[in-house]
Amino acid sequence: MSSLLDHDVETLPGIGPRSAAILKSRGHESVGDLLWLLPKRYLDQRHPTPIHELEAGEYVVVEGRVRSARRFPRGRHMGFEVRIESELPVDSQEGYQEGYQELKLVWFRAVPGLTRRFEVGATVRVAGQVNDYRGVATIAHPETLAAESEGEIEPRYPDIPGLKRKSLRKAVRAAVDRAAHQVPDLIPEAQRVSRGLGRVGQALRSIHVPTDETVDAGPGAAHPAQQRLALEELVLWELALRMRRAKEPAGAARAFEADPHVSIARNAFAFDLTAAQLAAVDALGRSLNSEDPMRCLLQGDVGCGKTAVALVACAQVVAGGAQAAFLAPTELLAEQHAMSLRPVAERLGIRLGVFTGTLSKHERRSMLDRMSTGAVDLIVGTHALLSGDIRFSSLGLLVVDEQHRFGVAQRLVLGVRDARHQPHLLVMTATPIPRSLALVLYSGLDLVVIDAKPPGRLPPKTVRVTRRDRAKVYRQIERALEAGGRVFIVCPAISESDGIVGVDAVAAEMGSRFGEDVVGTIHGRLGGDERRTTMRAFADGDIKVLVGTTVVEVGVDVPSANLIVVEQADRFGLAQLHQLRGRVGRDGQRSACLLTHPVPLTPEAETRLQALCETDDGFKLAEADLALRGPGHLFGYRQSGASGLRFADLGDVALLSAASEIAGEILAEDPLLSRPENARAAAAVARWERFAAVREEAG
Ligand code: ADP
Ligand code: MG
Repeated sequence: MSSLLDHDVETLPGIGPRSAAILKSRGHESVGDLLWLLPKRYLDQRHPTPIHELEAGEYVVVEGRVRSARRFPRGRHMGFEVRIESELPVDSQEGYQEGYQELKLVWFRAVPGLTRRFEVGATVRVAGQVNDYRGVATIAHPETLAAESEGEIEPRYPDIPGLKRKSLRKAVRAAVDRAAHQVPDLIPEAQRVSRGLGRVGQALRSIHVPTDETVDAGPGAAHPAQQRLALEELVLWELALRMRRAKEPAGAARAFEADPHVSIARNAFAFDLTAAQLAAVDALGRSLNSEDPMRCLLQGDVGCGKTAVALVACAQVVAGGAQAAFLAPTELLAEQHAMSLRPVAERLGIRLGVFTGTLSKHERRSMLDRMSTGAVDLIVGTHALLSGDIRFSSLGLLVVDEQHRFGVAQRLVLGVRDARHQPHLLVMTATPIPRSLALVLYSGLDLVVIDAKPPGRLPPKTVRVTRRDRAKVYRQIERALEAGGRVFIVCPAISESDGIVGVDAVAAEMGSRFGEDVVGTIHGRLGGDERRTTMRAFADGDIKVLVGTTVVEVGVDVPSANLIVVEQADRFGLAQLHQLRGRVGRDGQRSACLLTHPVPLTPEAETRLQALCETDDGFKLAEADLALRGPGHLFGYRQSGASGLRFADLGDVALLSAASEIAGEILAEDPLLSRPENARAAAAVARWERFAAVREEAG
């Protein structure tokens, strides 16, 4: 059946061959494609915003009387500046005193006809984004609106160069009228009915053809039609996640007996495992003792001791005669893990191998050899370990550290070459994820949580300091050093530029203050050898102040570190700051975290830094972060586009669980999405997979 959706965009009114080519170059090939080109906003001309109610950052329609207009020189051209004031009588304006009194409009280039349109005394109507420029509400290059369009709500589509705004609007409208009713639903009818959901086509129509209610329902995501699209998208996402799991090569894993090796491993550490760690060890032990390949996500706050738990799991597998691989996200971390695991491994008779990019050709060959012949039991390395030609003699367990994108880890498992068995997979998150979210995102996986930290830990005292107050920073460093500790200083960049503080400058500053020989630097531009030497010198105390970038972020473990200074902390995300803070206070000693920042802060940065000062609970911070920024950053996706999610806000847990349920029901009926009515879902999942692969490689 030929569908109107498949018709070429050129069949739409106002779209000739040239416009069609432009649309197609942007992926809008068919009438159906154009339906998914959604307005970025509505221009609501029914009630313009009064000037005293303007707020910086908003996109508004404003009406007013021209109070003054002047031209001013701007480079080789003339700019134009207009001030408009409200036409309303002052006493009818509630809140007039507090708000802006006038609005400045500026053009930095010559635009014909402006002087005529903006004559003093004339009533004008403009639209644009309001900025606060030194206390004055300002719109740069506003759009001038015709007075007769009063009362209209106009969908505004993203600008497409070469295409007239009006033609695009007309074409989309025609597409809606012709074909919106034909858009197939991903969610089967029975489920739509039982959940009281409308059709996707209907939702699309009400977004493109806004009514008073559409607009008054508030900004984007809150609107029912947006919610409907978001649900559609999340169902797709869930289907993709679940199918990815199902697509793993069939085959059994080896079962590994838990006792008595587990109890031996428990005694291999210099400390007693906490009750929370033991519970996790038991849960993993049971999963490993099964031929069902384990797919487990181990969650726990920074410093809760995930490494020890993972090592016990490795020991269980090695005791059963197989190998375990332990992957870290960076060379630095891999080396550190190797360093801290070595004594424990030795005690347990586990033969440890390290595989990183810094091995010489010869070392590399010999390590590959030992891996493939089984002459090494536990291999620590980076993800490079699973690339190319690497073979294990018998890999029983793959541990992936500091990774919350499960898809990444799953891909790694697919790269394992072991003909006989599937390895078990243990993924450890870098950052806690709110449980509600984790349950949905990782549905179908085992979720093990370590919910307590080793005893005797004092949470680092977290304090904010303005960037200017260096005396306070110096004082804290002195105090930390006097207590025999070590200090991390983290900067947002390696070299200073555009007001961003760099490692070089801060290292010089600290060197002149505390002595050059006790200050070291660490960042991604240094070679592996240099980094290793520096880290060791820092651990040994030859270096006492280590200035670096966020390479110290994940996992770095120097127990005597008792102070971390984060320069321009407002430039870091909440999860990242919590990770950084987790680098200190690991030894039960008193520790502190100083967050330097400029003033004033944006409200969002203010909330972030404040949250950090108030709690040391990573799960609580994760909830706060989710509320502040949505989960995109958790998965390394930027806000829009790249997330692959256009409509959905992963913070909406209720919507997520609905999507998860629906996806589960669809797959229960049709596990491979092979039925004709699920053809669209199958195609969409395939497309999503391709994008996801690209994103994950990029991330
Ligand atoms: P994370 O969960 O962040 O990866 P680590 O595994 O690096 O945490 O552990 C943090 C620190 O706590 C390490 O120095 C480790 O040796 C120590 N540690 C782990 N478990 C315990 C415990 N049960 N008692 C005391 N210290 C512990
Ligand atoms: Mg760790």
